[in-house]
Amino acid sequence: MTKRVVLLEEGTAEMKGLIGNKGAGLAVLLQAGWPVPAGFIVTREGCRAFCTRLGHLSTEGVQEIGSAVRHLEEQTGKFFGDSLAPLLLAVRSSEASSHDMESHALLRVGLNDVTVEGLARQTNDRQYALNCYRILLQDYGQLVHGIPYSLFEEKLGDLSILNESKLEFAIAEYKQLIEDIGLHPFPQDVQLQLKEAMCAVSNIQRAPRLNSQQELLLQSTPFSGDHQGNAVLIQVMVNGEQGERSGIGTLYSHHPATGERGMTGEYIASVVSQSQDEELGQLRREEPELYGLLLDACSYLENCMGEVQKIQFIIDSGELYLLHVSPACLSAKAALRSTIDFVHEGVITKADALLRIEPWHVTEMLKGFSSCTPELELLLEWADEIKELMILSNVNHPQDAITARALGSEGIGLCRTEHMLLSPARLPFVQKMILADNESERRRGLERLLPMQQSDFEQIFEAMDGYPVTIRLLDSPLHELLPDLGVLEKRREWLQAEERQEVDHQNELEELERVIRRVSELHEHNPTLGQQTCRLSTVFPEIVDMQLEAIFRAAVKGVRQGWWVRPEIMIPQIGHVHELQAMRDLVDHVADQVLGEEKRHCLYRVGAMIEAPRAALTATHIARQADFFSFGTEELTEMTFGYSREQAEMRFFQLDKDSRTVTNNPFHVLDVEGVGQLVEMAVVQGRIRKPHLKTGICGENAVDLESITFCHRIGLDYVSCLPEQIPYARIAAAQAAIKGQRDSANVQNADISTIA
Ligand code: PEP
Ligand code: MG
Repeated sequence: MTKRVVLLEEGTAEMKGLIGNKGAGLAVLLQAGWPVPAGFIVTREGCRAFCTRLGHLSTEGVQEIGSAVRHLEEQTGKFFGDSLAPLLLAVRSSEASSHDMESHALLRVGLNDVTVEGLARQTNDRQYALNCYRILLQDYGQLVHGIPYSLFEEKLGDLSILNESKLEFAIAEYKQLIEDIGLHPFPQDVQLQLKEAMCAVSNIQRAPRLNSQQELLLQSTPFSGDHQGNAVLIQVMVNGEQGERSGIGTLYSHHPATGERGMTGEYIASVVSQSQDEELGQLRREEPELYGLLLDACSYLENCMGEVQKIQFIIDSGELYLLHVSPACLSAKAALRSTIDFVHEGVITKADALLRIEPWHVTEMLKGFSSCTPELELLLEWADEIKELMILSNVNHPQDAITARALGSEGIGLCRTEHMLLSPARLPFVQKMILADNESERRRGLERLLPMQQSDFEQIFEAMDGYPVTIRLLDSPLHELLPDLGVLEKRREWLQAEERQEVDHQNELEELERVIRRVSELHEHNPTLGQQTCRLSTVFPEIVDMQLEAIFRAAVKGVRQGWWVRPEIMIPQIGHVHELQAMRDLVDHVADQVLGEEKRHCLYRVGAMIEAPRAALTATHIARQADFFSFGTEELTEMTFGYSREQAEMRFFQLDKDSRTVTNNPFHVLDVEGVGQLVEMAVVQGRIRKPHLKTGICGENAVDLESITFCHRIGLDYVSCLPEQIPYARIAAAQAAIKGQRDSANVQNADISTIA
């Protein structure tokens, strides 16, 4: 049968599930020789068996718990319920987290009208003993019967004068309050006290939080029932609040805000000394031995756990006791700094350190410091040593490439050339070129744009010297680069008004009519499915010519500067291999003309941007003409789901939240189940045709930890993201690699043990 009562001397770390994390932690400490108040744990099983539906302890429970209590009596020489040497107990949840430790507890169980006098004699301080009893009554009332503290406080009145008679009066009033509301008197039988405390602490999650008297009257019965029960930790009460050389404290093994090495925290001595201070200075001066012991405990625990520790302790008449030890809650900065320290000290591995960091903390830290701290730099270097995915960047302007490189980008995965043309200085030339009535006029416009694009590419090649730069050819419906039709029509109306029939206005009106006609011709109602991208080159091949010429001219210049230049020309919206083939011919033709002799120094590539499901489905064919596949997963998501992002987010994602049709917005987190399948299938099929086909994702909906883990798992070569997301992606890619390695090691071990 599973154990129902476990002495701290018997507990182990592996019993965490049975005896709760707090109890298991203390058991390990005790057995390693650290001072821990003697105690035992009533397991979840035990609590379930002992606390019956009505909140009463069964007979066997009484026996098993009774024998554990006797064990504590033997260890302390005190006796539970004894009038001369009363043993007092602390009853706590063994599972609550450290910060709410005392709110899920009942302390000083064992005090009653008789034993309180025993405590008074033991401590030689009756006022202290009475106050302990008063606090027990108040906590008991709150925990067992849900009576709010405020009702007790009302009875107490002025807190500044707590003399014996006032305390005796308060005790009588509190007992009456418990009886009135709880419908039972406060138990003078200490066994009954313990039983009720245990059942209440075990069932603590069900204890209602009552704020008003009305609620209270509605619910004045004990809290028990079908709750599964928490394991309950019962320990000998140690007292740090009274007497010489006593006090209570909380410390951290590293600073929780800055992560600085060294013990820090606070200590409150029971006797106010001349040099009282809130930190640990007084303890170091007055109790150097105990201070040293705490220092040792910190390094012992950090070495065992590999984490910064929070230690709550008590000093009772010169004896140190560790009350609770748990991993400390740290600021992002402190978590990073201490983690790096642990690696340097050999306590944890680099992989452990990387797994411990929340990738989004890195983004937050970068926002806070605006540049990498040395610790962050180091962590990112470790990530690069481990990760298998390359992290590239999506850029719209040369400045983005400089930022991306500084943040560790290993190249450009998507350079959106249409964004470069949209700047206010360039747009008039772009519009003039598009609105031209014939090819020669259009070519003249393009001649003005070519040096602008070339200069952009030169700057990007320079920033990315040594790394590949994927440049996507113009991928915008032309009308998006043109003036708004509605605005043009308004202007026409204004010019057509009678009074403006002067010659100047006539000329403008004629030109405006021409522009309106052209804009209307080029307008597309459904641009995603329209003439943009690779199909544009069949209508206006000269635009693509200009872009290619600009790329290769910039490449020649770069090569002559001594840079390592690798342009990767990405053809957007490929649906059929013939489209890619035609574009590839065009690229090769321009490259031959522009690169000339430099061609051997500039190994360019041509690849397909896969955003149309047909391209994914025919990946084996597309791979014949592609040096790489880049998945535009945002548009692939639109086409796979059959809705546009704009419409979905504006009109129905909100509604779907309630009906739970779409659990995650697939434009924020890659839909691994559907879109991910298309990507995986295309990668597999593409590599059947071309084993070294380079593959990656440039859609910005694949940059969360889960999506990056998927990208790693299916063996993509890279993920491309916004420059500011690069540090996040580097950490996430390393985490994906580490988890992947550990998972396969586990599978191998399992296989070996099956064979054995
Ligand atoms: C995409 O659709 O995933 C993509 C990267 O394209 P865009 O440039 O339109 O964001
Ligand atoms: Mg797209």
